[in-house]
Amino acid sequence: MPGTLSFDDLKTRVSDGSIDTVLVCFVDMQGRLTGKRFHAVNFVETAFKETHCCNYLLATDLEMATPDGYASTNWESGYGDYIMAPDLSTIRPVPWLEGTALVLCDVLDHHTHEPVPHSPRAILKKQIARLEALGYEAKMATELEFFLFEKSLDEIRKSGFRDLQPFSSYNEDYHIFQTTKEEDVMRPIRNHLFAAGLPIENTKGEAEAGQAELNIRYAPALDCADHHSIAKHAIKEIAWQNGRAASFLPKWAKDRVGSSSHVHQSLWKDGEAAFYDKSAKYGKSELMGRYMAGLINYAPDYTYFLAPYVNSYKRFSKGTFAPTKTVWSVDNRTAGFRLCGEDSKGVRVECRIGGSDLNPYLAQAVMIAAGIKGIEDKMELAPPTTGDVYQDAKAQDIPQTLRAATETLRGSKFLRDVLGDDVVDHYTRAAEWEQEEFDRVVTDWEIARGFERA
Ligand code: ADP
Repeated sequence: MPGTLSFDDLKTRVSDGSIDTVLVCFVDMQGRLTGKRFHAVNFVETAFKETHCCNYLLATDLEMATPDGYASTNWESGYGDYIMAPDLSTIRPVPWLEGTALVLCDVLDHHTHEPVPHSPRAILKKQIARLEALGYEAKMATELEFFLFEKSLDEIRKSGFRDLQPFSSYNEDYHIFQTTKEEDVMRPIRNHLFAAGLPIENTKGEAEAGQAELNIRYAPALDCADHHSIAKHAIKEIAWQNGRAASFLPKWAKDRVGSSSHVHQSLWKDGEAAFYDKSAKYGKSELMGRYMAGLINYAPDYTYFLAPYVNSYKRFSKGTFAPTKTVWSVDNRTAGFRLCGEDSKGVRVECRIGGSDLNPYLAQAVMIAAGIKGIEDKMELAPPTTGDVYQDAKAQDIPQTLRAATETLRGSKFLRDVLGDDVVDHYTRAAEWEQEEFDRVVTDWEIARGFERA
């Protein structure tokens, strides 16, 4: 659902003094809210039209370093400005911060006023438009898994990220008592996000000590991505307000399960579920079969957008519910893709590959593009797999490392055709940089292993 405040509502709240601050944000390459805090009076008088930011913001890494090698933004061109154009349909209150509202922006070129091609929101909008041209609307839901820790982010950082104590001492999958102990954080997360206009379904304990999940009702793809980014931000902020830490790092300990972000997808035509055919097996329409065939076939090409960091690949291990194979199954959690809601209008495909660190705009965009490719090329879906897919030697693997995923991204004709060479080159550079940074580091593991014994 779009924001809950119209621009007129916002003006009323600003004049009665109940809102004094507007967070004017866009989503960066990492999926984070980035922007400025405006005095609300200034926002409703002038900044609602546009504001500006440095164009390096869509070419930094997680630590705000400015790597070289990007064609669109670099020292040679002097790091100019982008326009941040508020999308006034996304205004909403931020109930966990006093007197505050939020608006999401599209990022535009300073000179041409065209969308910046590698801006995540622009990338998703382009694929939504392609799907609309075929007569379909994508509805999506991204699950958010994360870990809650006893101490705050600031305390944990000061202690060098050591001795991390998750909030719970045992696997809390669907646990009610343990999750009751977490209600000081989780209840405000649900209620504040709901009041901000996000259709919150539930939170639950997940399959590891301290692990939680937030489910948001499925929505048109752009709204879904907006919901995800706002929710992830809110979870970190509300945990921090309560003296706790929430982490979306996919794998923070080698002997613990990682965190994912499964993506549920369905197509609709004229308000009807286009994936549903009540006379077909599982209720799966021919259209759904073709969409899934594209999704599965091109998964290696787009894995980078589901797993963008070195750490993301540590999550993909056998027997942890994190999939390694690009096959599908019916209600089987060991495959990369799962058909859910069979024989009902809710029939949909869930991609289980993505980690909790994915950028929802990019992930949804490339999956819609793969689905469109399946539809356009009338691709045939292979039969479902059964049993433990981890043991299926014939099933296609997804790239197992960031290095491998970077190479499939770089060489993907499919992604170059649908996203454009400039966008693929931009994200390939981001992927390379991530690996280069890692390769420069001497890890604790190397020292402990070799210091004495090498
Ligand atoms: P699970 O058993 O995986 O928890 P749920 O029934 O809770 O499954 O649904 C998971 C997600 O799928 C929810 O966020 C829900 O809104 C979403 N969902 C339900 N129907 C559809 C659909 N037709 N298309 C896309 N997502 C859907």
